[in-house]
Amino acid sequence: MGNMAKELMYAFMGKKIEKEEEKINVHSLRSMTEELLKLNENDWVLYAFSREPLERKISLEDKFQFAYLARVCGENEANNIAGNDFTKCAENMGFTVKTPHMPNGGANVTFAQYEESGKITIFMDTVKKAEPVLYELKDLLGKVDIYSVLLLHEMFHGIEQIKADTIYTKTKKIQLWRKPFSNLSRIGCLSEIAAMSFARSVLDLSYSPYIFDVILMYLYNREAASMLFDEIMEIKEAA
Ligand SMILES: [Zn+2]
Repeated sequence: MGNMAKELMYAFMGKKIEKEEEKINVHSLRSMTEELLKLNENDWVLYAFSREPLERKISLEDKFQFAYLARVCGENEANNIAGNDFTKCAENMGFTVKTPHMPNGGANVTFAQYEESGKITIFMDTVKKAEPVLYELKDLLGKVDIYSVLLLHEMFHGIEQIKADTIYTKTKKIQLWRKPFSNLSRIGCLSEIAAMSFARSVLDLSYSPYIFDVILMYLYNREAASMLFDEIMEIKEAA
């Protein structure tokens, strides 16, 4: 390889390394939380749809409309929740609630999950790690009961399973054409939007629980949380 080529290669690699470093620029949790609190409902809708496989098939107008109806759906279900012992409430609805300490797999960080058998699992490692961090942020977020945020989110997925034939998030379908056939398809991210809306409404939060996507990830991987934050900000700016 001649010198010129070598120099070019080094220049290119240098740039790449610079870019990588720029990418893993770790933000403080406080500064990210402050910025995320400034996002409006539509910003979170765009974030939710950025994870939706059918994203490109749905117009911006429809995204906002469907998301609005999903939020209303979550709020309506929240009206049926009485009291503040949500574990008991979930059990009364026929769900089982398990609280193991650690996530199942080591590589994938899971905070909570719902299984079709009716089992809700809240991984307490996440809750225990989150509590002191959220306490530090209480001037921004208020008092946060993260266990209940996670539980209610998953409980909504259970409710949607029970009401699969009638509930908006399960019955809303869009028509996709694969000539010469058409097929109707559910929009998965509407379930997530509604589950967040449900938890938010029951707990009377003044901000979107989507903010915890970044905060909880930060507990396990600051670089990944910072990258997710940057991604959310880019989605907002591109809109
Ligand atoms: Zn969910």
